Amino acid sequence: MSLNEFSLIKQFFTRQAQQSSVIKSVGDDCAILSVPHNQQLVVSMDTLVAGRHFPESATPYQIATRAFCTSVSDLAAMGATPLWFTLGLTLPSSDEQWLSQFSEGLFAAAKPFNMDLVGGDTTKGPLTITVQAHGVVEQDCALQRDTAQIGDRVFVSGYLGDGAAALALLQHKITASDKLSDYLVSRFYSPMPQIALGQAIAPFTHAAIDISDGLLADAQHIADASQVSLVVDVDRLPIHPSLHDAMQKGMLGYERDAILSWALTGGDDYQLLFTVSESQLPAVNALIEDKLIHATDIGRVVAANTGEQYTVQCAMNGAPYSPSSQHRGYQHFTA
Ligand code: ADP
Ligand code: MG
Repeated sequence: MSLNEFSLIKQFFTRQAQQSSVIKSVGDDCAILSVPHNQQLVVSMDTLVAGRHFPESATPYQIATRAFCTSVSDLAAMGATPLWFTLGLTLPSSDEQWLSQFSEGLFAAAKPFNMDLVGGDTTKGPLTITVQAHGVVEQDCALQRDTAQIGDRVFVSGYLGDGAAALALLQHKITASDKLSDYLVSRFYSPMPQIALGQAIAPFTHAAIDISDGLLADAQHIADASQVSLVVDVDRLPIHPSLHDAMQKGMLGYERDAILSWALTGGDDYQLLFTVSESQLPAVNALIEDKLIHATDIGRVVAANTGEQYTVQCAMNGAPYSPSSQHRGYQHFTA
């Protein structure tokens, strides 16, 4: 590695560690980290490629926050406490202004979670950012996707469809008021990892996953892993009131039903999808009523019909509903 790259790391990616568990941070061959007693380490990595996972027009600050948030979302889905992260950075050139803004965005995103950057790798090439997030869970308490049970209710946190609406906005396929645009763009570049929610629901939840590929796709992951089927009531999907309003009034320049397609298949929402048994429902409903979490009951876990695949079915007002035929015209938003 050239001297230039060493000084780059020193200048932009070396900060005093916040966690006492960091014995050695950036600067040696490896970081040295203590896993707290009786806890298990959970680790996840995500890579963002310029032009593929974010538009070329994204600012360095936005690229950093998106890379960080999307990676840390996986810790939320496990009910984990975040501790550290590492950064794989492939850069076309070492542009100081770019690095300064990127580093500012990265540490700003990490601050609410007190996460320390403890190492990484820096190489030259097409702009690509990898963040590996590390967290801990109490022994055998990690939330997983293979533990949904027949009879569970299915919940989703926050709002759905924001990520896909934001992408449509960034691609100039829709227009929105300044206020709604600001909201959507911030949801796209800083999809707040649902760490607090993941921890709050962990004791009461059977299975959980974060929604990165779209509600239906990620619900299917729970179905397959847990060997069950899921029914999603599309009339109950939580849509942000401003997005709903703009769509109703035709203000987005797009058809009303697109919103359902965004919510079901759009992806990029980074909300948590989780299942709750009948006996734990009062506990989860109390968290919702006390506004400790924002989550909506959107469906249920059922047995797969004998001889059939594990499926995710949709219902509207109690009747079967087929999103693919209703929304075929909007499939180009789901790429
Ligand atoms: P080595 O050659 O021993 O693998 P490097 O020269 O790649 O180490 O990196 C030197 C130190 O800087 C290591 O501690 C590494 O973890 C850290 N580092 C490299 N790139 C980054 C980065 N983008 N962000 C944070 N730390 C980094
Ligand atoms: Mg190295």
